Amino acid sequence: MNTQVDPRHMRYIWKPMDTNQKLTTIDGACHCGNIVYEFKTVFTPDSLIIRNCQCSFCKAHGGATARDPNGTVAITARDPDLVRLYRFGTKTTDFVLCGRCGVYVGAILSHGGKKYATLNMQLSSLDTSQAEPVVYEDEPAEDRVAHRMDLFTPVIECPF
Ligand SMILES: [Zn+2]
Repeated sequence: MNTQVDPRHMRYIWKPMDTNQKLTTIDGACHCGNIVYEFKTVFTPDSLIIRNCQCSFCKAHGGATARDPNGTVAITARDPDLVRLYRFGTKTTDFVLCGRCGVYVGAILSHGGKKYATLNMQLSSLDTSQAEPVVYEDEPAEDRVAHRMDLFTPVIECPF
Protein backbone atom coordinates (compact mmCIF):
# COMPACT_ATOMS: atom_id res chain seq x y z
CA MET A 1 0.00 0.00 0.00
CA ASN A 2 1.23 3.43 -0.84
CA THR A 3 1.17 5.45 2.39
CA GLN A 4 2.73 8.57 0.94
CA VAL A 5 0.78 11.73 1.60
CA ASP A 6 0.33 14.19 -1.21
CA PRO A 7 2.75 16.97 -0.18
CA ARG A 8 0.23 19.61 -1.18
CA HIS A 9 -2.19 18.13 1.32
CA MET A 10 0.54 17.82 3.94
CA ARG A 11 0.97 21.56 3.99
CA TYR A 12 -2.45 21.76 5.55
CA ILE A 13 -2.09 19.05 8.19
CA TRP A 14 1.41 20.08 9.21
CA LYS A 15 1.47 22.62 12.04
CA PRO A 16 4.73 24.54 12.17
CA MET A 17 6.53 24.39 15.54
CA ASP A 18 8.44 27.61 14.95
CA THR A 19 6.17 30.34 16.24
CA ASN A 20 8.70 32.96 15.13
CA GLN A 21 8.23 31.92 11.53
CA LYS A 22 8.04 34.90 9.25
CA LEU A 23 4.50 35.65 8.12
CA THR A 24 3.43 36.99 4.77
CA THR A 25 0.77 39.70 4.89
CA ILE A 26 -1.77 39.72 2.06
CA ASP A 27 -4.10 42.69 1.92
CA GLY A 28 -7.38 42.72 0.07
CA ALA A 29 -10.29 45.10 -0.34
CA CYS A 30 -13.62 44.99 -2.12
CA HIS A 31 -14.05 47.18 -5.19
CA CYS A 32 -15.44 50.20 -3.35
CA GLY A 33 -13.05 49.76 -0.41
CA ASN A 34 -15.73 49.28 2.21
CA ILE A 35 -14.56 45.82 3.31
CA VAL A 36 -10.85 45.22 3.88
CA TYR A 37 -8.98 42.14 5.02
CA GLU A 38 -5.46 41.68 6.35
CA PHE A 39 -4.44 38.03 5.96
CA LYS A 40 -1.25 36.88 7.68
CA THR A 41 -0.01 33.48 6.54
CA VAL A 42 2.97 31.19 7.10
CA PHE A 43 2.96 30.57 3.33
CA THR A 44 4.88 32.65 0.85
CA PRO A 45 2.85 34.16 -2.00
CA ASP A 46 4.30 31.40 -4.23
CA SER A 47 3.47 28.46 -1.92
CA LEU A 48 -0.02 29.55 -0.89
CA ILE A 49 -2.58 27.34 -2.61
CA ILE A 50 -5.39 29.27 -4.28
CA ARG A 51 -8.50 27.30 -5.15
CA ASN A 52 -11.41 27.79 -7.53
CA CYS A 53 -14.31 26.24 -5.64
CA GLN A 54 -16.68 24.76 -8.23
CA CYS A 55 -19.89 25.35 -6.25
CA SER A 56 -22.57 27.38 -8.02
CA PHE A 57 -21.98 30.45 -5.81
CA CYS A 58 -18.19 30.62 -6.24
CA LYS A 59 -18.45 29.92 -9.97
CA ALA A 60 -20.89 32.81 -10.33
CA HIS A 61 -18.49 35.16 -8.54
CA GLY A 62 -15.25 33.87 -10.04
CA GLY A 63 -13.99 33.35 -6.50
CA ALA A 64 -10.43 32.11 -5.95
CA THR A 65 -9.91 31.45 -2.27
CA ALA A 66 -7.08 30.64 0.12
CA ARG A 67 -6.81 29.88 3.81
CA ASP A 68 -4.19 29.04 6.42
CA PRO A 69 -5.08 27.45 9.78
CA ASN A 70 -1.75 28.75 11.16
CA GLY A 71 -2.38 32.30 9.99
CA THR A 72 -4.78 35.03 11.07
CA VAL A 73 -7.18 37.37 9.38
CA ALA A 74 -8.52 40.75 10.47
CA ILE A 75 -11.59 42.00 8.61
CA THR A 76 -12.76 45.59 8.84
CA ALA A 77 -15.67 47.45 7.28
CA ARG A 78 -16.00 51.23 7.07
CA ASP A 79 -19.75 50.79 7.04
CA PRO A 80 -20.72 47.43 8.57
CA ASP A 81 -24.37 48.08 7.60
CA LEU A 82 -23.28 47.57 3.99
CA VAL A 83 -21.97 44.06 4.66
CA ARG A 84 -24.22 41.31 3.31
CA LEU A 85 -24.08 37.76 4.65
CA TYR A 86 -25.50 35.00 2.46
CA ARG A 87 -26.12 31.38 3.41
CA PHE A 88 -27.09 28.52 1.13
CA GLY A 89 -26.80 24.76 0.85
CA THR A 90 -25.95 23.31 4.26
CA LYS A 91 -26.17 26.85 5.79
CA THR A 92 -23.04 26.29 7.86
CA THR A 93 -21.09 29.24 6.52
CA ASP A 94 -21.69 32.96 5.88
CA PHE A 95 -20.62 34.13 2.44
CA VAL A 96 -19.57 37.77 2.85
CA LEU A 97 -20.48 40.28 0.18
CA CYS A 98 -20.20 44.03 -0.01
CA GLY A 99 -23.69 45.51 -0.31
CA ARG A 100 -22.38 48.54 -2.20
CA CYS A 101 -20.11 47.07 -4.90
CA GLY A 102 -21.34 43.46 -4.77
CA VAL A 103 -17.89 41.88 -4.45
CA TYR A 104 -17.52 38.47 -2.78
CA VAL A 105 -14.97 38.88 0.04
CA GLY A 106 -14.82 35.40 1.55
CA ALA A 107 -16.65 32.83 3.65
CA ILE A 108 -16.81 32.73 7.44
CA LEU A 109 -17.70 29.80 9.67
CA SER A 110 -18.73 30.60 13.26
CA HIS A 111 -18.30 27.82 15.77
CA GLY A 112 -17.85 27.77 19.56
CA GLY A 113 -17.68 31.57 19.73
CA LYS A 114 -14.85 31.68 17.19
CA LYS A 115 -14.76 32.53 13.51
CA TYR A 116 -12.76 30.90 10.71
CA ALA A 117 -12.45 32.28 7.20
CA THR A 118 -11.42 31.51 3.68
CA LEU A 119 -10.70 34.63 1.65
CA ASN A 120 -11.20 35.60 -1.95
CA MET A 121 -7.70 36.25 -3.29
CA GLN A 122 -9.19 38.09 -6.29
CA LEU A 123 -9.31 41.09 -3.92
CA SER A 124 -5.54 40.96 -3.39
CA SER A 125 -2.62 41.58 -5.73
CA LEU A 126 -1.79 37.85 -5.91
CA ASP A 127 -1.82 36.04 -9.26
CA THR A 128 -4.90 33.79 -9.20
CA SER A 129 -4.56 32.50 -12.76
CA GLN A 130 -3.18 29.11 -11.62
CA ALA A 131 -5.92 28.43 -9.06
CA GLU A 132 -6.83 24.74 -8.60
CA PRO A 133 -10.44 23.75 -9.32
CA VAL A 134 -11.89 21.94 -6.30
CA VAL A 135 -15.27 20.43 -5.40
CA TYR A 136 -16.49 20.34 -1.78
CA GLU A 137 -20.16 19.65 -2.34
CA ASP A 138 -20.00 15.91 -1.62
CA GLU A 139 -19.14 16.43 2.06
CA PRO A 140 -21.88 15.93 4.67
CA ALA A 141 -22.61 19.13 6.66
CA GLU A 142 -21.07 17.77 9.89
CA ASP A 143 -17.84 16.87 8.12
CA ARG A 144 -17.79 20.20 6.39
CA VAL A 145 -17.88 22.19 9.64
CA ALA A 146 -15.04 20.12 11.13
CA HIS A 147 -13.09 20.31 7.87
CA ARG A 148 -13.43 24.07 7.66
CA MET A 149 -12.49 24.63 11.31
CA ASP A 150 -9.28 22.67 10.70
CA LEU A 151 -8.37 24.37 7.46
CA PHE A 152 -9.81 27.89 7.55
CA THR A 153 -7.92 30.88 8.88
CA PRO A 154 -8.73 31.99 12.46
CA VAL A 155 -10.44 35.39 12.41
CA ILE A 156 -9.02 37.81 15.00
CA GLU A 157 -11.15 40.83 14.07
CA CYS A 158 -14.53 41.03 12.39
CA PRO A 159 -17.18 43.78 12.70
CA PHE A 160 -20.16 41.56 11.84
ZN1 LIG B 1 -17.55 47.20 -1.81
